Amino acid sequence: MNLTILGCYAATPRTFTNPTSQVLDIRNRLFLIDCGEGTQVQLRKNKIKFSKINHIFISHLHGDHYFGLVGLISTFMLLNRTTDLHVYGPKGIKEIILLQLKYAASYTNYNLFFHELDSKESEIIYEDEKVLVQTIPLKHRIYTNGFLFKEKIGDRKLNLAAVAKHKIETCYFQNIKNGKDIKLDDGTIIENQNLTFDPIAPKSYAFCSDTVYNEAIIPLIKDVDMLYHEATFLESEVEKCDRTMHCTAKQAATIAQKANVQQLILGHFSTRYDSISLFKSEAETIFENVLLADDGKNFEF
Ligand SMILES: [Zn+2]
Ligand SMILES: [Zn+2]
Repeated sequence: MNLTILGCYAATPRTFTNPTSQVLDIRNRLFLIDCGEGTQVQLRKNKIKFSKINHIFISHLHGDHYFGLVGLISTFMLLNRTTDLHVYGPKGIKEIILLQLKYAASYTNYNLFFHELDSKESEIIYEDEKVLVQTIPLKHRIYTNGFLFKEKIGDRKLNLAAVAKHKIETCYFQNIKNGKDIKLDDGTIIENQNLTFDPIAPKSYAFCSDTVYNEAIIPLIKDVDMLYHEATFLESEVEKCDRTMHCTAKQAATIAQKANVQQLILGHFSTRYDSISLFKSEAETIFENVLLADDGKNFEF
């Protein structure tokens, strides 16, 4: 998986910081997660192809997470998009977007599908042969979901030397990659494990923003390869943090540690801090693999 952070700051866009948006690339499928103001500019700066985005996931309806959406939908139209676009987000998102299009006497020349969410339980909202996406119900001032992206186990890897040795024809390769044994012309059966290697272990990514400290999410995100968790404040601002229903760096690290994740990316920083390095040092008192998000940063895992 490859994650590009387009924006990772709370509240308002500023000269050098953008509100939440990120692109997750899973085996060449691009998923846009949140779409704060400025997302289009950030997509261009990071050289991400607009036409490859077919699925957009919106966590909640605070402006710093979706004010860029109607603009992006409208740009897709100007770019003569014809591919379907799917938007997953809280109930109400369809009405908001369609109302803006209606009063602009505007329309899309591609199919726009809204998948409105209102469940308080985790649910699978997207699935294809390679990827599965499910919601992570979060606790915030309004209805909010995080998203868990899970790669499915891929095909077994062909042992090229072994198939050449047995002179197996290429038309059998897909069957072998699917795990089947092969019967040779003389009747000998070659077991699959002698023709293949184990597939690469599937990866998982959990996006959790915005939320209070909530241990209820731990079973869902247990053992993920990468967790992005909001850390809007430091412990010194814990009162404001509680009041606005966010997390401190320490709280985010506690979730990461209890969920036994491989790595933690902190983001959604309040713009009150001059340097974000303090978030890392605070989190590292609890959990060791801490990374800091920043606009334009890329993570491969
Ligand atoms: Zn936010
Ligand atoms: Zn929010």
